[in-house]
Amino acid sequence: MSRPLLMIPGPIEISPAVQAAVDGPPPSHTSPELIAAFGDALRAMRRIWRAGADSQPYVLAGSGSLAMEMAVVNLLCRGQHALVVHSGFFSDRMAQMLERRGVAVRRVVAAPGEAPTAAEVAAALASGPVDAVFVTHVDTSTGVRADVEGIAAAVRPSGALLVVDGVCATAGERLEMEAWGVDVYLTASQKAVGLPPGLALLVMSARASARRGSLTEAPPLSLDVDAWLPVHRAYEEGRPSYFATPATGLVRALAVGLAEIEAGRSDGAEGVEAAWRRHARVADAMRGAWAALGLGLLPRRPELAANTLSALWLPDGVDASLPAKIAARGVYVAGGLLPELRTRYFRVGHMGWVTTQPALLERTVAAVADGLADAGRPVDRAAALAALRAGLG
Ligand code: PMP
Repeated sequence: MSRPLLMIPGPIEISPAVQAAVDGPPPSHTSPELIAAFGDALRAMRRIWRAGADSQPYVLAGSGSLAMEMAVVNLLCRGQHALVVHSGFFSDRMAQMLERRGVAVRRVVAAPGEAPTAAEVAAALASGPVDAVFVTHVDTSTGVRADVEGIAAAVRPSGALLVVDGVCATAGERLEMEAWGVDVYLTASQKAVGLPPGLALLVMSARASARRGSLTEAPPLSLDVDAWLPVHRAYEEGRPSYFATPATGLVRALAVGLAEIEAGRSDGAEGVEAAWRRHARVADAMRGAWAALGLGLLPRRPELAANTLSALWLPDGVDASLPAKIAARGVYVAGGLLPELRTRYFRVGHMGWVTTQPALLERTVAAVADGLADAGRPVDRAAALAALRAGLG
């Protein structure tokens, strides 16, 4: 059998070009090669995020959680107020980080499979002081996508900053950072960005960067944008610089991965727009296959279903051993993550390079169908594959 296929919602399968960039010897952090790659990656981030010319991208060694923490500690400190728009597991993590920083947290909560609406966010903003609003663009625990554009429009009149966790969304879901008025948009390398885990990525608007100066309590040094800003400016200007050693091999791979995203074409679109459309088309096709297998989505309304992953209810009579049965067919999918529903659903990632590889998507659908059959659930594998192919066009 060919090697196992990684179809969890991150980390994901990476492209051959990114793999080659990762495999090379690590460059020095002051080498011309690394300086060029770092600068290219920062400029590409500004374009892919659709961020303003005065915004500042950051690339740090770390995971998505570090990017979340970096946003928290550079924007807020003890005694300030945050509103967390709650859509699942990672909203809780954000709230926990804010509370550790001494920030007073209020939540707008939605039932599992739902996301708070812009109107609910507006109502919460009107009911007390809020310095910053935190939203998860796609909650990986539920496969629910929040209406970031609508929420941003609701937040803007309040003057609060808007921070979006895009770990499971960047390059897979539409994002217009500047046009929508998002102040910090953060992500990690191991999902639709298309790299191995190891990089925390965030872009801060000029308004968000200015907030650092007004903090009465400094952030931890290794997360302080004041420490990192000169390094990032230097790399973009083509000069060597040092504060703490970057993950040099991964930064080289980042420049390659982001260039691949920008080089893509699909449905008449180019660049990141093509990547968004490809993810939407693949997600539709996968949902067609799931429907043919009798699998229902955890997101309660079609417009809430993310393009980067599917969270699927286990059908009656099928238990949480289904992912292991699918793994026995050579495809790794993930179990449930939301504590209260953990054993009742499972998750399949469909983001990054695999969205350009129909054969790998077919392998995934076939393995899920066979896993269900192993679990004693009769399914029409051929119909699911036909639905997938029809959706892929
Ligand atoms: N936010 C979201 C939406 C995520 O999916 C994840 C990771 N799955 C994180 C934050 C945390 O990222 P990491 O595991 O890379 O620290």
